[in-house]
Amino acid sequence: MTERIGLVGLGIMGKPMGKNVLKAGFPLTVWNRTISRAEELKALGARVASSPKEVAEHSDIIITMVSDSPDVQQVVLGDDGVIHGARAGSVLVDMSTISPQVTREIANALQEKQVAMLDAPVSGGEKGAVEGTLSIMVGGDAAVLERVRPVFEALGKRIVHVGVNGMGQVCKLANQIAVVLNNLSMSEALVFAAKSGADVSKVLEAIQAGAAGSWALNNYAPKILRRDFSPGFLVSLQQKDLRLVMEASREMNLALPGTALTYELQKSLQAHGLEREGNFALIKVLEQMTGVEVKG
Ligand code: NAP
Repeated sequence: MTERIGLVGLGIMGKPMGKNVLKAGFPLTVWNRTISRAEELKALGARVASSPKEVAEHSDIIITMVSDSPDVQQVVLGDDGVIHGARAGSVLVDMSTISPQVTREIANALQEKQVAMLDAPVSGGEKGAVEGTLSIMVGGDAAVLERVRPVFEALGKRIVHVGVNGMGQVCKLANQIAVVLNNLSMSEALVFAAKSGADVSKVLEAIQAGAAGSWALNNYAPKILRRDFSPGFLVSLQQKDLRLVMEASREMNLALPGTALTYELQKSLQAHGLEREGNFALIKVLEQMTGVEVKG
């Protein structure tokens, strides 16, 4: 039997993911708060529902891809939320990046209605969502993951079962720590080269292939050299993820000095109204501190 898929949240990530679900041949029902964002998927054959509840009524597997913990709580547990339309035996797959603790609370609430949950946040950015090459980090029951796997295979390349509910989110937050510290190291290297009067594009060409090589150097540095700070991944969402990291580490009394520093530096971007630029705009904070601009 072909599973009927529901999708709530058609932002930068959700919309291309919806296209890949359709391309893989699954029937798809979608809902987005700003309804105009559903037009493109409607033209491609998706049914457009009037609420998350209605999405659930038409679906066996419901994916949520919204912003933050309260947003997932609202579209799943709120008035007109998924929980009010989901039948026993269906599955909620939250692919947003949210709190591991809130994830466990939502999973418990759904379990009372015999609705299973996977937390399955992703890495790979807008490009990964468009190309269907996301990394998917899954928390929840292994048998439920096997049921959902064909859908994940339409969205991603690497699907890893990390553990019980919440562990997908723990994995994603660990990923974000590595992402921001890579961004910081890239930014310092480029600012140093520029201030020293080097041809930064030559420096980039040389260091990309060596021990300093990173996803950030390959994907973000060329955009920085073009002074193109379009997202990708918004500064506001990056800060949301670091806030989740700081909250979780505070609970554990765990020191994360590099992450805390980057979180503070990025507040400067927020203070300067740069929240909707790509997360690699972090370099602008260092540029301001050092009085140099990195250009190709
Ligand atoms: P986005 O473009 O800002 O889209 C957010 C989506 O969530 C929009 O559809 C928005 O609806 C919806 N939404 C937010 N709050 C809502 C609420 N309270 N009720 C209903 N709908 C709500 O964000 P995105 O980049 O797609 O990111 C989505 C999730 O994926 C986030 O958790 C993010 O951290 C994660 N993620 C993003 C990337 C990336 O590179 N972009 C990579 C990995 C993971 P409207 O259209 O009405 O605003």
